[in-house]
Amino acid sequence: MQPNGHLNQEPKKNEIHLSQLASVGQVAAGIAHEVRNPLTAVKGFLQLLREKHEERYVEIAQSELDNALHTLENLLQVSKPDLEDEPSQPTNLAVELEAVLQLFQDQIYRVQVITRFEKTDASVYGKRNQLKKAFFNLLKNAYEAIEDKGVISVSHTVMNGYVMVTIEDSGAGIPKDKIVLLSTPFFTTKSQGTGMGLTQVFSVVYEHGGHIKVESEEGLGTTFTISIPLDQGRQKYEVNKLHMEFQEGQELRDFFEKNKKMFEEKLLQEAVNVKDKVEEIQTIGNINLLHNAHKLVLFLIEGRKHDIIVFAKEEGKIWAKHALTLSFKLEWIHALRRVVWGFLYNYDRLKDSVLVREHFYTQEKQINELLDQFLNYFFISYSQYKDELLRSHREMVEDLSVPIIPLSESMCILPLIGTIDTYRANTIVDKVINQIGVSRMQRLIIDLSGVAYMDTAVISHLLKVIDGSSIMGCHVVITGVRPEIVKTMLKLGVSFEQKAETKGTLQQALSEYLRM
Ligand code: ADP
Ligand code: MG
Repeated sequence: MQPNGHLNQEPKKNEIHLSQLASVGQVAAGIAHEVRNPLTAVKGFLQLLREKHEERYVEIAQSELDNALHTLENLLQVSKPDLEDEPSQPTNLAVELEAVLQLFQDQIYRVQVITRFEKTDASVYGKRNQLKKAFFNLLKNAYEAIEDKGVISVSHTVMNGYVMVTIEDSGAGIPKDKIVLLSTPFFTTKSQGTGMGLTQVFSVVYEHGGHIKVESEEGLGTTFTISIPLDQGRQKYEVNKLHMEFQEGQELRDFFEKNKKMFEEKLLQEAVNVKDKVEEIQTIGNINLLHNAHKLVLFLIEGRKHDIIVFAKEEGKIWAKHALTLSFKLEWIHALRRVVWGFLYNYDRLKDSVLVREHFYTQEKQINELLDQFLNYFFISYSQYKDELLRSHREMVEDLSVPIIPLSESMCILPLIGTIDTYRANTIVDKVINQIGVSRMQRLIIDLSGVAYMDTAVISHLLKVIDGSSIMGCHVVITGVRPEIVKTMLKLGVSFEQKAETKGTLQQALSEYLRM
């Protein structure tokens, strides 16, 4: 599929305008399948429990019930996004797309992304995080549809009062008869799929008065076109009045503690894409994101700078150690910043404090400076850990690049393979001399049959190895020198013979010395 011209192209064969959500029957079939299985299992275990009380049965039954509940919650969440009481706000879809694209950074070597964004000052009015989530789901599918290498093109423009976004992939495509099933909950063709992604996309787009068009050609790729009505000039940024618990004279800290649950909700709502990762991050890195967010917020409002630095360093290290994606951390901290400010606004509103300008700007300085500190230390600690990791990998590779293998008590062999540059030649000199010191070997066979080329500098390093070895009482035997290397040496007027013994091949050397 060509990465350009998707906006005005001829309709593809399998184009379908989808105008309604999946039918009740389809949804029911999905639920029956996904929820009946765990419930049937629970029934079975209850039966077993009647006969014999085993703790194991209770545990399995419980986890099956959890599965069923989880499925139902998922279904509710994606098919009725209005349940999530996210307020509508002016939203720039181009900006949200850019942010979501960042989350797929780890795929850049596999999939090329082409963006064509026009009329990027347009906005729609809606649930920003839900829309963002929808783009995430569409892009995730696009990436998953591309098996090996491919292209994803994303465009943004305005047409007939709608913001139009297309996401086009060069992936597997969708069979024509399956296109009508896309919005159905649980419809999936993936072994690990949930079939909930597109359900969320469809419900969010419809809720915003928009349309979806799907064009697909098997083996060529798929294009999703999303249109959402333009927002006609509203305030770009709005403060948000929340219903929160507040008591006269309440301290800011207590206010945050009392409204902890709402804080968590708002945070997950703001960081939609991290939301799905919370559990995974808890499992992989044993990090409780919500708990830590709380801790950070208390540090922030109390101005505990040193605690923040220590905390950031710790987190940076853990994050790097478990190879967690950085973009999620960024989204998380940005969400945290927004929620904290929302809370501060509401605290002041409820307290009915006529904020003095001085106070406001002091608070702004404190919170934002501290958060910036957190990010700084987090990233420094993250990259230090990664650097350290690289360094130790490099040491390991260095060791592997000079494999000195003992053949007997007094004899070792060093087979050299690949390119030898000055850096590696230096490593070889070091390691060989050290090893002779440690092992007291008397003969070292250096086999060069795996080395195609050596430049003058490298050859002179090798001669140094021979010199150094003989000073330490170790006799060097060179085998398998390739003609190209011999030519270079002739040109230079140097040879190994004066300093070391040479043998045509490694086999010759081995059979001779091992006999001795
Ligand atoms: P899931 O990704 O968990 O399978 P979705 O609702 O996101 O659930 O997608 C449902 C199905 O639609 C996928 O399993 C896949 O077969 C198909 N699909 C969605 N997007 C694409 C795409 N861009 N290319 C090919 N197939 C797709
Ligand atoms: Mg999906």
